[in-house]
Amino acid sequence: MFCKTCGSLLVPKKTPYGKWMACPNGHSQPELVQESKDISIKNKEEGKRLEVNLGENPLAVHDHICPRCKHDKAELIEISASYSDEDNIYRMKCGKCKFVKQLEGKVT
Ligand SMILES: [Zn+2]
Ligand SMILES: [Zn+2]
Repeated sequence: MFCKTCGSLLVPKKTPYGKWMACPNGHSQPELVQESKDISIKNKEEGKRLEVNLGENPLAVHDHICPRCKHDKAELIEISASYSDEDNIYRMKCGKCKFVKQLEGKVT
């Protein structure tokens, strides 16, 4: 690839935004710079999303203190008892340590 301004052979350049080919005479290559920036931002967002889900259950949105680790959010699991006359069974699954506690009675 060659510089769009002076025609010099482009050389690899390292910047805080990423790596791309740049003119040794300092001419900017708008298209190349734009492309590298997009890739950099995309990677950053994916890293963030991974961090958020790491070890935390996204379904654990119910207020419930875990008897084991004291985490205060749990996933509500409903086990339908439609096959019998009994009430549905509800369980709270800790969003952190995955400890499952069966609830007594109905959850409203
Ligand atoms: Zn140039
Ligand atoms: Zn727990």
